[in-house]
Amino acid sequence: MTCKGCEIKEEAANVDVDVLIEEQLRMEIDLASQQIAKKRTEICETCPFRVGDTCGKCGCYYKFRANLSNKTCPAGYW
Ligand code: SF4
Repeated sequence: MTCKGCEIKEEAANVDVDVLIEEQLRMEIDLASQQIAKKRTEICETCPFRVGDTCGKCGCYYKFRANLSNKTCPAGYW
């Protein structure tokens, strides 16, 4: 599985997506506050468009997208 919206790629079948996302976020400079990211993530986790770790609307890992300040939900939920 590959995130279409960023450079995160799984290199092994049993890769830990959360670890990959944390690594990628350490390279980002425009992060949302923890409070905002948490609220966005909670919305994503109940979203009908979520497919596992991925947003079915944009193809991003939803936890990654939720942590970026300038991103919005492609379905308008946040
Ligand atoms: S970003 Fe929006 S559409 Fe995508 S999973 Fe989250 S709430 Fe759903």
